[in-house]
Amino acid sequence: MTEFDYDLFVIGGGSGGVRSARLAAGLGKKVAIAEEYRFGGTCVIRGCVPKKLLVYASQFSEHFEDSRGFGWSVGESAFDWPTLIANKDREIDRLEGLYRRGLENAGAEIIASRAELTGPNSVLIKATGQTVTARHILIAVGGAPNPHAALPGHELCISSNEAFHLDELPKAILIAGGGYIAVEFANIFHGLGVETTLIYRGQEILSRFDQDMRRGLHVAMEEKGIRILCHEVFEKIERGPDGRLLAHTSKGKALAADQVLLALGRDPNTHGLGLEAAGVKTGIKGEILVDEYSCTNVESIYAVGDVTDRVQLTPVAIHEAMCLVDTLYRDRPTSPDHDMIATAVFSQPEIGTVGLSEEEAGKRFDTLEIYRAEFRPMKATLSGRAEKMIMKIVVNADDRKVLGVHILGHEAGEMAQLLGIALKAGCTKDDFDRTMAVHPTASEELVTMYTPSYRVKGGERV
Ligand code: NDP
Repeated sequence: MTEFDYDLFVIGGGSGGVRSARLAAGLGKKVAIAEEYRFGGTCVIRGCVPKKLLVYASQFSEHFEDSRGFGWSVGESAFDWPTLIANKDREIDRLEGLYRRGLENAGAEIIASRAELTGPNSVLIKATGQTVTARHILIAVGGAPNPHAALPGHELCISSNEAFHLDELPKAILIAGGGYIAVEFANIFHGLGVETTLIYRGQEILSRFDQDMRRGLHVAMEEKGIRILCHEVFEKIERGPDGRLLAHTSKGKALAADQVLLALGRDPNTHGLGLEAAGVKTGIKGEILVDEYSCTNVESIYAVGDVTDRVQLTPVAIHEAMCLVDTLYRDRPTSPDHDMIATAVFSQPEIGTVGLSEEEAGKRFDTLEIYRAEFRPMKATLSGRAEKMIMKIVVNADDRKVLGVHILGHEAGEMAQLLGIALKAGCTKDDFDRTMAVHPTASEELVTMYTPSYRVKGGERV
């Protein structure tokens, strides 16, 4: 008989929490998982999944236009936002059900309540007022949109959370930020016919990506009709006499819109979680500090996913959860591997990327070979669309190792997933060169760029 009520108590039913609870329960551990809202977390309920459904919806306007060049005449088309949202919600309900059933089938106890730490081995279940104990506690509470409280009028703005449930589609929207969420939603709203403006504080959107991807996407978005303002921020948001919002910018503009979406990063959800009571240390953003095995400074308390602010991506949280279960319950201490994470931005066109950007690689390696292709995708020849595809391979000239691959264009995310395997396996450029092309595809370009476009030495292009 164990001295604790549970072997593992998980706080938070998102990607990381659900995976660890399900696996640990499947191994015969006594597990409880508390969730105050809905199972599935940001990814399923108000993130990756509904976002991708909205991306699909927003692509039809271009599909209809493109079809003409292939001989189709599409009758008058109309878009209905409430239908999309209702269908999306039905799918999210279905997925949430799968998450719950997975937990139940594995034997985990589901607790529909907020839970807060009261000590190194104890948790208060808010809904019942009951305190329970656990040998291990896992914090997997994720993050929440940065509300930008310093911005006057920020309370009039929405975040990505609300964007999924607007009563009606705005006629015009202003989006602040230049990261994943700002860029993806700018393309979604534009594709659905909304007049869209993106405002970003820096010189170029998507600051952590390869320069070619950033510039290429910026150009493509502007060509579609999305307005992008760089080196500019909102200074005040107010409601005008006509009921619309008025956003004042640092360059003296007053922009009117029906909605203002703030996409300025996400903060760890640690406020009021009882971390002080348990003695758990946090960093400057409130993120939970963990070691290489996701253990906090308190031996019995662990944390995975966005709340640790290591890499804020769903597959990373899941990977961290799986490593933790190996460490705690399979006698196989495993630290998560955060190297070479392939990722996609579901902009239109998409960005798919794995490994180092040219800029980052230039700082770490003496000489690089850069292979770069820019071309019109085959589909665009008949559709007449001006869009360009960009592919770029960053190679260490010393040992021919491929350090990074970056793609802008259709299905770039799908390509990044497969390239992730190749780069994780340590492929060299010679491996790419001796791989037969699949013809006719866009991705064949990746194995047919035989001569470097240019070299980079000491961080400078030569
Ligand atoms: P990001 O970190 O991607 O981008 C935040 C943006 O806000 C940056 O452009 C940043 O500028 C800007 N910013 C931050 N603070 C301020 C400020 N005070 N004033 C003006 N601008 C500011 O965060 P997101 O909110 O877009 O997304 C959150 C996380 O969710 C991402 O990190 C990503 O990991 C994940 N995500 C992943 C997706 C995917 O995999 N496809 C999709 C959506 C989200 P600067 O660059 O100058 O710092």
